Amino acid sequence: MKHDYLIRVLGANEKVRGFAVDTKGIVEHARLIHHNTPLASAILGRLMSAGLMMGQMLKSKEDKLTVQLLGDGPFKHAIITSNLAGTVRGYVSNPGVELPLRKDGHLDVSRAIGNGSLTVIRDMGLKDPYVSSIDLTSGEIAEDLTYYFAQSEQTPSSVGLGVLVDVDQTILASGGFLLQLMPNTDQKTIDQLEKNIKNFVGVTPYLSQGHSLEEMMDVLFEGFDHEVTDTMDVSWKCNCSFERGKEVLATLKRDEIVNMIEEGKPVEVNCDFCQSHYRYDIEDLKEVLSHIDEQAK
Ligand code: ZN
Repeated sequence: MKHDYLIRVLGANEKVRGFAVDTKGIVEHARLIHHNTPLASAILGRLMSAGLMMGQMLKSKEDKLTVQLLGDGPFKHAIITSNLAGTVRGYVSNPGVELPLRKDGHLDVSRAIGNGSLTVIRDMGLKDPYVSSIDLTSGEIAEDLTYYFAQSEQTPSSVGLGVLVDVDQTILASGGFLLQLMPNTDQKTIDQLEKNIKNFVGVTPYLSQGHSLEEMMDVLFEGFDHEVTDTMDVSWKCNCSFERGKEVLATLKRDEIVNMIEEGKPVEVNCDFCQSHYRYDIEDLKEVLSHIDEQAK
């Protein structure tokens, strides 16, 4: 079985950089954890593919990327986090939503999301993370990200994302590409690139035919020199743990912890990203309480 991976490409006399990612296994894994409907898989899969590629633009291993989608449609919100190491996790707040297919037979992603915003947060370990937000223009995610790169980062980009779901809701194909122009790219290069993108059949029609990411880039870079400069595995990974759950409890008010201890019942902390449950008994809660008291000194 083919595994999930990501490639980085440089071409057109180093005037165009590209990323492509295959996330079929990751999106299937997320489907099984969250019981995602095809629409939820489409939204989360597109966001995770984008997040993995954008994670490659981070500078340091410790940096964290968060992409958040907020809408007034039935999905409400979706969030993913990623990083330079190529791991991703995410969830949609309402994974059970279904809507009728669009007239062209596609999943109606933009209606599921509705009007709203897309926010990108880059946490680089500084006091304040870098936060940038745009209003959604299409709600199809790829177009919105293209707009995001133009508005927030002044980088002309083209983003393609797709998730193809089988009748039994398993994931047949999932992935994306991201092409970016370096400053001062000549018009001839831009025109040829636009032509290539326009003629491209689309991410999931292409990948589901058994093509590789390298072949996808060959098509998108047609007429240009180009080379793969990096290839890496990507995977689903959540960084929650028993200890981190304790840290979450320590952010609660002292009185709340005291009440929990007085009630004498264990407390459960659930991770929204991976659905792990962590149980804290009274001894754990007392430890959290002494930690809060120590911090207050
Ligand atoms: Zn988790």
